[in-house]
Amino acid sequence: MSNNYERTLVWLRRDLRLYDNRALAEAASRSESIAICFVFDTNIIDKLHDKDDRRLTFIHDSLAELDAALRKRGSQLIVRHGDPADEIPALAKAIGAEAVLTNHDYDRYPKERDAEVRKRLEEEGRTLHTCKDQVVFERDEILNNAGEPYKVFTPYKKAWLARLRETDFAELGESKVDLSGIAPAEELAAHSHSWQLEDLGFTRGNLWLKAGQSAGRERLCDFLGTIDRYKDERDFPAKDATSGLSVHLRFGTVSIRECFREAMKHESKGRETWVSELIWREFYQMILDRFPHVRDEAFKQEYNELEWEGGEDRFAAWCEGRTGYPLVDAAMRHFNATGWMHNRLRMVTAMFLAKDLLVDWRRGERYFARYLLDYDFASNNGGWQWCASTGVDAQPYFRVFNPVLQSKKFDPDGTYIREHVPEIQGFEKALIHWPHDAGEMEQEMAKCSLGKEYPHPIVDHFEQKEKAIAMFKRE
Ligand SMILES: Cc1cc2nc3c(=O)[nH]c(=O)nc-3n(C[C@H](O)[C@H](O)[C@H](O)COP(=O)(O)OP(=O)(O)OC[C@H]3O[C@@H](n4cnc5c(N)ncnc54)[C@H](O)[C@@H]3O)c2cc1C
Repeated sequence: MSNNYERTLVWLRRDLRLYDNRALAEAASRSESIAICFVFDTNIIDKLHDKDDRRLTFIHDSLAELDAALRKRGSQLIVRHGDPADEIPALAKAIGAEAVLTNHDYDRYPKERDAEVRKRLEEEGRTLHTCKDQVVFERDEILNNAGEPYKVFTPYKKAWLARLRETDFAELGESKVDLSGIAPAEELAAHSHSWQLEDLGFTRGNLWLKAGQSAGRERLCDFLGTIDRYKDERDFPAKDATSGLSVHLRFGTVSIRECFREAMKHESKGRETWVSELIWREFYQMILDRFPHVRDEAFKQEYNELEWEGGEDRFAAWCEGRTGYPLVDAAMRHFNATGWMHNRLRMVTAMFLAKDLLVDWRRGERYFARYLLDYDFASNNGGWQWCASTGVDAQPYFRVFNPVLQSKKFDPDGTYIREHVPEIQGFEKALIHWPHDAGEMEQEMAKCSLGKEYPHPIVDHFEQKEKAIAMFKRE
């Protein structure tokens, strides 16, 4: 972007912060005056099932913090409610912005939406400029020697890290935002719609973490204090050992560049592993961008026609956390109550649905999409396809987690299970992972009658594992 402008409009989407924001920094440095807006996109929010959707509350609260910060500077956020293809060009015209700046998104609908916004702006002599912001390397910036996108994570990660070093870490530099040119509130107020959740047709959802850019930064800062222990402790759901930053990364209330910058100051295995997880996030964004068929289909297309035998009853038992497999049930119940699930448990529950219950992974993917507070299409789809063995660099189909061994390994004392499946909490450690071995006396002592208070196992893991392998072999 070389032009300078009198006024630009910055359109926030998954970058709800006023610092280290590429589009905002660019706009501020190229124009005399800037205005900042957010559109509650009716093409998205009208499709949400739940009136108390936590994501809407998170966005609302994050915007409220930005609005308050802008008001302290005599400006305000402009918030609209509608179809961005109408709202953005209309707003740009109304406030006299010559250009609109926004940050890239890699999913199909946002790409189509942005193309339409661009077209409509150009029809009226305005411009849309877009910047890379939510990942460090995007699209085709990391390619293999044949000039193609990587389909295996480890070489991608190596190439990603090599590129970062070659460019002397320039991509991690902070995009400093100078807000001195922010337009005064008097010029913007009339263009904002009212945006209380009720005005949008929603109610408050329960949040288990604070929304907004200051909370995002605080969480990063707290996590950095324990990052060196991350590798050893991250797989234990009863420990608070992961960053909990996925929600902030999803909505951009933390800067991905700041996450990498700060992490790189540490020298430990914990840091290496955490950085690797952040690169997985970039890998899946790249996959979604380059292989958009993953939106509806298996990455490995030979697995599109698998015959999933699992029906409604199994799916319902999984959703409600009554499969008779304690770790799976604990994870699903905790998830239903909060919209949060630990990574180890996402893997266990997803693999259980696909390979023990033999239910089409896409049903589980959609269930997660409905409730996950950190729901991100690329990572959710990547994670599900990894577990279901249909994805890019996925688990081989014959590898099936044993949910009871996973439980013994990652929740050894049963602390997590006891918290979320209270009806079995009276069983001693030896039985908590598989209470079905309990005799009558043990059930009496634990005050839990199996088949009554807690369900018998819905399937036999070993039988199902064989069936899953046979299903894949048939293809
Ligand atoms: C079936 C399944 C579904 C998933 N759905 C989502 C989703 O919708 N949104 C989402 O952000 N993550 C998803 N993940 C990835 C991962 O489970 C979460 O990112 C992680 O649990 C979030 O916790 P954290 O922020 O404490 O992560 P940390 O362990 O602190 O990791 C740091 C960050 O790295 C990224 N990350 C970590 N693991 C992965 C991974 N496997 N794939 C991609 N990025 C990763 C996340 O942005 C995360 O915040 C899914 C994984 C699976 C197996």
